[in-house]
Amino acid sequence: MKKEMQALVERGEMLPLMEEFYTIQGEGFYKGTAAYFIRVGGCDVGCHWCDVKESWNAELHPPTEITAIVENASKYSDTIVITGGEPLTWDMGPITRQLKNKGLRIHIETSGAYPLTGEWDWICLSPKKMKLPTKEVYEKAHELKVIVYNKDDLRFAEEQAAQVSENCILYLQPEWSKRDKVIPLIVEYVMNNPKWKVSLQTHKYLNIP
Ligand code: SF4
Repeated sequence: MKKEMQALVERGEMLPLMEEFYTIQGEGFYKGTAAYFIRVGGCDVGCHWCDVKESWNAELHPPTEITAIVENASKYSDTIVITGGEPLTWDMGPITRQLKNKGLRIHIETSGAYPLTGEWDWICLSPKKMKLPTKEVYEKAHELKVIVYNKDDLRFAEEQAAQVSENCILYLQPEWSKRDKVIPLIVEYVMNNPKWKVSLQTHKYLNIP
């Protein structure tokens, strides 16, 4: 990447854009809501079950001017979801300011592994054992979504729930490839511990992105 371009990426004025699409939010509190997704490349958290491994290497995704991303997004929806990869790899300040200036509602899906930048209407925190969230993301998260791959993730979920604010909504979501095995565990757990709710990847059942 050219030096000038790299400087713009470092300032958050360009972002490695992997894909952008208008769809239905499939997971968590806003499931069922039409939203425009901006998927930013770059993530070094390394979840072995990650379903967007193509996002990891930021070099594979073209640095794109945020003004162009914002212009596109505003044509489709009032609700914008910035996801990844790990969006907080980058400075989210500039893009969220521009989206806010357009009067849009902005959500982030993050592992919380890096310092929180940007202005958000909704923070979905999906913590990962390999790189735990920063204190600020725990405090500001609106929903905590723990992916359950095996039984130990229920223990991890409780540890994570102890770190978020009182009003944070708690979700357990089956990892897609293990869903048949872990859904019964989650169902039983939520019935015994009703502060949790079940989240499903409904977009995968609907066969939409
Ligand atoms: Fe994949 Fe998200 Fe884990 Fe990164 S944090 S490896 S994008 S699941």
